[in-house]
Amino acid sequence: MSSAQSSTSRRGKKPHASRGEKHLKVLIVGAGIGGLSTAIALARHGVKSTVLEKLPQLSPASSPSGVGAGIQLPPNGARVLRQLGVLDALLENGGQALEFMDHMSWADGTVIRRRDLTKCEELYGAPWINVHREDYLRVLYNEAQRSGVSVMFNCDIAKVEPETPSVTLNTGMIIKGDVIIGADGIWSNMRNKIFPDPPRPVETGYMAYRITLTTEELLSLKDFRINEMVRDPQIGQRIWLGPDSHLVLYPVKEGKKFNIVAICPDDIPSSEYRDGCFSPVQANPSDIRRTFADWDPVITKMLSRVTKALKWKLCTITEPPTWVKGRVCLLGDAAHPMVPFLAQGSVAASEDAITLGTLLGLTSKHLLPLQPSMPDLSHVLKKYEQLRRTHARFIQTQSLRQGYFNRLSDSREQVLRDEIMGSMEFNMLKPDGSLRDVGPEEKGGPPLTDGKWCWIVFRHDFEQQARIMFSNAYGKFIQAFGVGTPTSEKGRVVEDVHAHGQQEMVRSHL
Ligand SMILES: Cc1cc2nc3c(=O)[nH]c(=O)nc-3n(C[C@H](O)[C@H](O)[C@H](O)COP(=O)(O)OP(=O)(O)OC[C@H]3O[C@@H](n4cnc5c(N)ncnc54)[C@H](O)[C@@H]3O)c2cc1C
Repeated sequence: MSSAQSSTSRRGKKPHASRGEKHLKVLIVGAGIGGLSTAIALARHGVKSTVLEKLPQLSPASSPSGVGAGIQLPPNGARVLRQLGVLDALLENGGQALEFMDHMSWADGTVIRRRDLTKCEELYGAPWINVHREDYLRVLYNEAQRSGVSVMFNCDIAKVEPETPSVTLNTGMIIKGDVIIGADGIWSNMRNKIFPDPPRPVETGYMAYRITLTTEELLSLKDFRINEMVRDPQIGQRIWLGPDSHLVLYPVKEGKKFNIVAICPDDIPSSEYRDGCFSPVQANPSDIRRTFADWDPVITKMLSRVTKALKWKLCTITEPPTWVKGRVCLLGDAAHPMVPFLAQGSVAASEDAITLGTLLGLTSKHLLPLQPSMPDLSHVLKKYEQLRRTHARFIQTQSLRQGYFNRLSDSREQVLRDEIMGSMEFNMLKPDGSLRDVGPEEKGGPPLTDGKWCWIVFRHDFEQQARIMFSNAYGKFIQAFGVGTPTSEKGRVVEDVHAHGQQEMVRSHL
């Protein structure tokens, strides 16, 4: 039983503080996608937060997450953006809904499978988006500012006290909060400070070149196929699958630029691990050209235009024993970094954000008035971990699995993969509205082209899950101790969940 349930309040007794008198104070370390999204999610519940960012401004191109590149947001990511109220702003500021995704053969660009992504809204309830990170972060930052979030730059963390909880900045300044969230990325300082034996980096053996070319640069190549790709009125993502490497191309900045992510065996020495992190390093364009020399001529031509690029060592970490220590928790890459082969890393950070933001928001609204001395916030943070950890681990391993399929050499296995991909059915609904029961993944296909896999992952709604989890965990307590308040807190929980179409499920839990 949580201390939330062992409060000194008694049944029928009016709570000491009335609603709205006290709010949680949340500190978030890191103004990346996860940190800013959490701040917005909290603000939507009236919870104020302060975000502490190490850099002097929103992160530049050289940061581990690489703001200078494009990012894709499959439908589960776009759903969170809609829930945070920023999807329209993103689409008005450089974000585009992708219309197709082609998986292609490395040698000549033969399309193995074209997937119609315009169906994503209908199938999964949200579009598939691509955006430049700079635009994405700017939209999140503007929304955070509009919502009253305070973002402090130049703040590095020297010390963390999980029980108080508080952080001490390098300047010696101590900042206290009711909860502290470590959203400071894969090389998390927060994580290192809360665990005596912090998780270690795990090199995956692969690295990513990230390149941006302008549309003019591509058109100047005067290649018929490149012109078609660049001028195609449809906005699409193309993925060439080849031996030990794969390469992804998609437009950003409303088609004015094209983003290339080229994955290949890692040549960055382990000695580059310095000060607790692998930073991106300058790449030699001729190395990239050499790696993809025998590939589809379209690729070799495009790469001939590259004058500068960065390369990232693709790493994960050994699993942290827990995401929660006292009233400090980890979020996003700080908790569960993953390889980018399913484009789910930042999406998982925003799913964490909506989950945690909802749980803490409901806590502030429904538990805090009943326990003004403070509910057991560590217990609430554990609920967040409980909802998110297994799912994040699943996506981590599935991302590795997708990478395996993307980089098969020409072989019987690759022929089988292409056959499976070619025969995929994405619509899991039969004409009568019932679900198909046999998923193509039973043939062992890659996740991204597996209808059943996509159905499960892309439709998952963590805001809804968090409301149900909160109701399950605290509904009875609120019902018992909220009686006698002018409006029953139980009623409010039901109202909150009702707004998301879960009334019946929650009633049965309360
Ligand atoms: C090549 C590549 C391609 C990718 N493509 C995709 C994709 O298409 N789709 C997708 O969803 N994901 C993608 N990802 C993954 C994605 O970039 C990350 O999962 C995502 O950025 C994680 O967000 P975050 O907020 O947890 O961390 P970050 O984005 O790393 O943000 C952390 C923030 O914390 C700050 N910080 C760090 N240390 C401190 C400190 N001590 N004190 C205060 N602040 C600090 C940093 O400056 C930064 O602003 C890709 C990753 C790579 C490497």
